[in-house]
Formats: sequence, structure tokens, C-alpha cells
Amino acid sequence: MTATKKTVISGKTTCPYCGVGCGVNLTIPDSVNQDVPPVSGDMDHPANFGRLCVKGSSLAQTIKFDDRLLAPMLTGQVVSWESAIETVSSKISQVVKDHGPDAFAFYLSGQILTEDYYVANKLAKGFIGTANVDTNSRLCMASAVVGYKRAFGSDTVPCNYEDLERCDLLIMVGSNAAWTHPILYQRIATAKKQRPDMKVVVIDPRETATCDIADLHLAIKPGSDAAIFSFLLSDSVQADIVDHDFIAKHTNGFETALMQARASTPNLSYTADFCGIGEQDLVRLVGWWRDTAKTITFYSQGVNQSSSGVDKCNAIINCHLATGRIGKEGAGPFSITGQPNAMGGREVGGLANQLAAHMDFATPGSQDLVQRFWQAPNMATENGLKAVDLFQAIEEGKVKVVWIMSTNPMVSLPDTAQVRRALEKCELVIVSDCKAHTDTTAMADVLFPATGWSEKDGTVTNSERRISRQRGLLPAPGKAKHDWWAICEVAKKMGFQSAFSYQSVHEIFAEHAALSAFENNGKRDFDIGHFSQITKAEYDALTPVQWPVPKGRPEGTQRMFENGRFFTPDGRARFVAITPSLPKHQASLEWPFTLNTGRVRDQWHTMTRTGDAASLAKHTAQPYVEIHPQDARQLGIKDKALVRLTSLYGEVLLKAKLSRAVAPSQVFVPIHWTQQFASAAVVSNLIPQVVDPLSGQPESKHAQVRLEAVEDICYGMIVSATPLSLADCLYWCRVPSEQGFHYEVVWPKGQTQASLKAMGAGQSMVTAAVKKTEWLEYSNPITQQIRVARLVDQTLTLLMYLHPQPESLMADWLISQLTINTALSASDRLAILVGIPANVEEKGEIVCSCYQVGSKQIKKAIATGICSVEALGDTLKCGTNCGSCLPELKRFIPVVAELSA
Ligand code: SF4
Repeated sequence: MTATKKTVISGKTTCPYCGVGCGVNLTIPDSVNQDVPPVSGDMDHPANFGRLCVKGSSLAQTIKFDDRLLAPMLTGQVVSWESAIETVSSKISQVVKDHGPDAFAFYLSGQILTEDYYVANKLAKGFIGTANVDTNSRLCMASAVVGYKRAFGSDTVPCNYEDLERCDLLIMVGSNAAWTHPILYQRIATAKKQRPDMKVVVIDPRETATCDIADLHLAIKPGSDAAIFSFLLSDSVQADIVDHDFIAKHTNGFETALMQARASTPNLSYTADFCGIGEQDLVRLVGWWRDTAKTITFYSQGVNQSSSGVDKCNAIINCHLATGRIGKEGAGPFSITGQPNAMGGREVGGLANQLAAHMDFATPGSQDLVQRFWQAPNMATENGLKAVDLFQAIEEGKVKVVWIMSTNPMVSLPDTAQVRRALEKCELVIVSDCKAHTDTTAMADVLFPATGWSEKDGTVTNSERRISRQRGLLPAPGKAKHDWWAICEVAKKMGFQSAFSYQSVHEIFAEHAALSAFENNGKRDFDIGHFSQITKAEYDALTPVQWPVPKGRPEGTQRMFENGRFFTPDGRARFVAITPSLPKHQASLEWPFTLNTGRVRDQWHTMTRTGDAASLAKHTAQPYVEIHPQDARQLGIKDKALVRLTSLYGEVLLKAKLSRAVAPSQVFVPIHWTQQFASAAVVSNLIPQVVDPLSGQPESKHAQVRLEAVEDICYGMIVSATPLSLADCLYWCRVPSEQGFHYEVVWPKGQTQASLKAMGAGQSMVTAAVKKTEWLEYSNPITQQIRVARLVDQTLTLLMYLHPQPESLMADWLISQLTINTALSASDRLAILVGIPANVEEKGEIVCSCYQVGSKQIKKAIATGICSVEALGDTLKCGTNCGSCLPELKRFIPVVAELSA
């Protein structure tokens, strides 16, 4: 390995995954210098101080072009940008002329950059004249936005990440931060280790990895969270811990909210029963709440994705206002965003019920102000359609052109059958994406090739209001272009040249900053006027900063509301009277199981990026449903067996994962798998289009389902040097791999032989004429196992294992055999058929993705006497890089100790 220090490209950027917004150093070495790690954490970034989780650490693996969309496409044919833009702009102009501006809509994403968002919002709301600009952030934190606005008069996150480290009580509600916001979680875990008296409470129906640091886990009845905070409010009065001075000087509506809280949660016993938790557990939380001034409530999708998500947010905020635990170090209601730039979208007004720069249509004078600033000819005058309503309007034919950008609504919106009907009916579906094949690009009439992470250039804002640069360090491949460029080209073609003739992305940021400061004078929270004259050089050198950054305050603002002044007309925060309610659909005889959804540790959203990193697929290779063992026993479902989940809206097929982490009668399914990766695993198929009436956010964490074991089937694993068509499988899952193609399959019994023959014959016909093809076969009539290998010119090209029960095979080793170019020896041939090589250690399921350490290795090490996570790290290196696996490693130690006892 050479020590040459020459590199081609290097610079600081920001991770494109979660709302933590970690700083990343990206270094692309030249071909000589392979010893520079391509991705590392930015030591100077205040979100992560050099750390990255496993997803961030694997970013370099995702810089590949296998499935990139590299040219504009019109109905499946490559066309020039000019032609694509002409088609799109003329169609938008035509439908607007014939049917009005609301016949057009944008559906955007928390993945795009603030500058992309800004020009889309400006085009739609100021120049086309529609507020139909919604985003997948609607599915993530729309309830938090409305909750903040109701309470503060503005969409203001009051806290920062340091507050999480400095609080004495952290209540984490509806958040599995250990997996969804790993670096933030690790900062919290470190703080707790340093100050063991710091209390952590997790409120979640499921026992997640986050519970690893919890002093108390309240496994509440799904959706009952608001009752806990309603009770805390009334108890705060009872215990006389309210801040009377703060309430009198800085708030309105306390008495009404208190009355409602007392009426809806009259006592502790009622509340515990409503939430399905033990009274003693609630007593512990109440005691800590009473005694701890420095309290943060940290909440995420488990709160927001609910038919009463906004009320839940306000129930939380009420408690902080009543006790004056806001605007102070280590205190406040802290909503954590899921996506890297959900906050940036909020800032520009990229939601259908926002206008621009944190202004809305309802505030007198706002519309006029924005119109004058933009010199907009066709200003929208009222809220547009929120995501679920938008796709219903598309199906009804009211919206005729939709431009979807960087998101996958065919997977993420509830009731995907409805979304399909809508997109099939829509006159023109435009999709901008960097990927050629997603469930949504499959529905597009026009495809715009977009730049992706490491090429995109602009800004993002993380969960603590910190604006960072995502830098375009690599050149755009093929004909890919930035989203802001495509929007501006369409706008110019529609006749809006002067308003969209930006020469550089920094000009868009400067205009966005100038709008935020325009006639603001401290009236609006979002003010980044300091940047309104920013030059290209300053923009390129921009360092992370928390807004507001008004003129004269370049250092930004660490914490909000320190002066007790809010952004309501009278400057006072508002209490909101809340009645806790449960999810709209409840269990019935027909639909007895309550479905919960969420994320796995190593995947992000619909896998369009993380699915490219083979190492990330090792932790959780297949989609699954988590079922309590008691339910599984009653239904005859075995671990890893195929299960059918059905709701009123659709069905999915998943492998069973038996676990006591879910309560009986509840199941959990991850959100990530799409039709690109599995035959029938899109969990949104099961989710009804129930939304919060105020925020429009879907209740995506809740559906009622039934389960059944799928019987008379045969399980299989296939590794192949070439992609396979598995259309006749009952179930297939493509597991990302770097060395070939790995599929997990299930066939109906009886169909297996015919399918195998068809697959083998089809393959061999191609090669037989020119190469020598051999088939190795083993079958056992007693165990019903069948194993088949195909060798072409003595090298392995295809392996198929079939068995009546789900089995774990050494998939990694088998796949690695595809790349061995030398002729296979007799012992290699035998090992391939047996599936277990001699002299290769079986790892078991991968726990540590960074060092690819598996469960069997960990158990073996513990059996030798290792009894701490640190010692495991010393021996196997597991847990010593990103730390994402630490909660799982901890769990191994008692398990193995018990086994050996
Ligand atoms: S915590 Fe992980 S996924 Fe989130 S921003 Fe940081 S590195 Fe990226």
C-alpha cells in the first residue's frame, strides 16, 4: 500500500440520511492512493464531532452508477433535456390554462436541498398560482409543525443537541433514536454514562434498542401517549411545581388546558389504565417529572404519525410551558426530524399549508409581503392539498400534472393501491430522481435525471436548526442535473425568465435569506438576513450555524425563547386544551393484531441509497414481521417462516421474527423494502389513509391486521452470477451483494421442480452452445432438501438450495464462490452442495456491520469468559467504530450468561 497523499477530490459535506445532520469528510483518492478512508466524520461539525453511525460510515459504498438515471426519459425513451423541459413546461401551461393552477402539483422531499425547495415553492406559489406543494415531510413531522405553531405562533424548535446532554431527565417518546438518530443517541448515552444520575425514560409500545439506556420503559398501549402528558400537567398543579410567574407573564390559556387535562385524566390510576401500564411505573415518571427542572421531552414519528399527532405534541408542550421548562439549558419540548432536510423544507414553506420563510396564508399581510418580494404575477391565495388529499385529488382527476422529486410515494404513502390508481390516472407524472428504477419511477411519463449526494450542492438544516452545506464535490454523471436547475429551466420556458435566471446556487440561498429578513424586524422567528448578500466564496466556505442568523448576529442562535417572548400576536405562548384519544382503528375479531411500523438499524427510507451498500444488508437481510412468541404459537408460526399479513387495504408476505419486544396482539414491520427488493413487503399496503385533521399527517404507525402462516411451501436460497427473473416465486427478496445476486425465495410446494428446471434450462441454453456447462445435484427424499449448482467452464455461476423449513446458510461464503475464477476442486464442489465449507468460521447473523462480526462469533467469545461490551470490542473489534451495534452487543451478555448457567 502506497503512502502517497495525493487525492483527487476532498471536502466537507453533510450526511444525507437522518435529521441529526452529521458533518462528513469525503475524500475520493486517486487510483494510486487507496489508503485514505473515503468517508469520515467531520471533527469540526457540532452535530457529530467526528462520529458517524454505520449508515454514514458506509456512504462511500453508495457512490456507484449501477442503477443511476443518466438521461432524461419520455415514456421510456431517452430524450434531450431541451425536449423533456419543453414537454413538461408546455403541459403545465396547458393544464393551468384549461383547468386552473390547482391542476398542477409538486410532491417534494426532505432529501432535496433548501435551494431546490425554494425555487419549487416560488414557482408554484408565486408564478403558477397554486399552493399544491407538498412533501414527504408531511409523513414525518407535519404534526410537530402544527403543534409548535399552535403553541408558539411559529414553527420553532426551541432546543439544541447540547441540551440533550445537559438535561437531568430525558423523556423519549415514540422514538427509537438508537437506530433512527444513532449519533444523537450516542451523545445521550455518553452523557448518561458520565452522569449516571441523569434519568432516561422511553415511552414506546415496543421494547427497542433505545431502551438500552432507559431507567424506565413505559410500554404504553399504542397511541395513548397524550394521556401521560395530560396527567403530568394536572399533577404539576397538584404538586405545585408550576411556574406561576412564567405562566402569568408569558402564556395564555392555562386554566382551560388544565381543566381539560383534569377531566380527561382524572387520576393516576385512570391514566395508567388508559395507557395500559403499571401504576408504579407511572408513579416513578411522575416523581422524576416533579423533581427535575432540567427536563427535555424528545419526540419523533411515534408521536407525529397519528390521527391525533398535533394534540399529542401540544400535550407535551403544555407540560413544558406550565413548568417554565423551556428556553433554558437542558429543558424544552424537542421534536426530532427524520430527514436530512425536513427542516429546510419547512423554512422555505415547502408544505401545502405554508407560504414561504415560515409565513402562512392565514397571517394577515403575509401573502402581500411575499408577492411584493417575489414580484409574483400569480400568487396562490390559500392552502394547497396535503399529501394524502393530493393523491386523492389526482385520482379524482382534479390534479392533472404532478412533479415528484426525490421521493417514493408508491412505497411511503398509506394505501399504496390508491397511490397507484392515482398515478395511473394522472395525465403527466414527472419524476426527478437519481435512480433509474424505483417503485415510483416505474409510474413516470417523464424522468428527470437528478444529481445525488456528493454531487448535489446547497444547504440543509438539521433537527437543532443548524444550517450546513451539502457540497457538490463530485461531478454530475451522464446528463444528471441539479433539481433547482431543472425547476428553473421549466419556469423560464413557461415565461418566468427574470425570476428564475439564477447563475449559481448561492444566489438562490441569498434570495431565500433576503426574503426571511424582508420586513421582518423581529416579528418572525425565521430570519437569516445575515446571508442576504452572501458571495459565492462565502457560501462555499459556510460553516454550520443555527438560525435565526439575523443581520448583525452572524454567530446564530443556540436556543430559542430564552426571553420568554413568543411569535404570537401578543408575544405569549398558548396552552392548548387536549383530550387524549386512541388511534382511529381499533382491534376487532376480524382484524385482531395492531400493526406498528418503523426502521431497522442499517437501512434508510426506501433503500434507494443504503440498498447499494452490501455491508448494510448483512444486519437485516430480509423484511420481517416481529411477532410475540405467544401469538406465534397460537397461530402455528415458526421463527423465520413465511407469514401473510392482511388488512382491509392489502397484504404483504414477510418472514416471521419471534420476539418479546412486541406485546401480545401487536406486530411490528419495517418500512424499507420496496418492490425493487422484495415481491410483497411494502408495509404501506396495509395502512389506511387516516390522517390527523390538523396536520394531514397519516397514522402510518397504526393499522389493524390479521396474520396467518403460509403453508405448503418450499424455502430456498439462490446465488447467481447474473440477475434472475423470479416471477413465479410466491416470495422473493433480493439481498444486496457485491459479488453477484443473492435471492431468498419461497415457492408453493409442487411448483419448485418446474420452476427450477425452467430457470436452469433458460440459463443453460444461453451458455451451452459456447461453453461447457455442468450441473451438480443433491437431493434427499427424506428431508426433502434439494441442492443444485451450475458450473460453466468449471466455475460456479448458479447455486440453488431448497428445503421445506427455513434454514440459515452461509450466504456470504457461497456468494464469494461465484467470483473464484479457477476450476473448483472436488472438495470445493462437495462443500458447495453441503453449503458449509471446511476451515471457514461461521459468523451467524451480523451484529456489527463495520467489522462484519456475527452472533455466533460473539457467543463464542463470551463462552470463553468475556463479559463486557468493552472486552468484546477488544477481542473482535465489534462496536469499536460507529457504535451503532452497542445496544445489541449488551444484550448478548446476559443471554449467553443465562444459557451457560
Ligand atoms: S446519525 Fe448516521 S444517518 Fe444520521 S446524519 Fe449522522 S451519520 Fe448520517
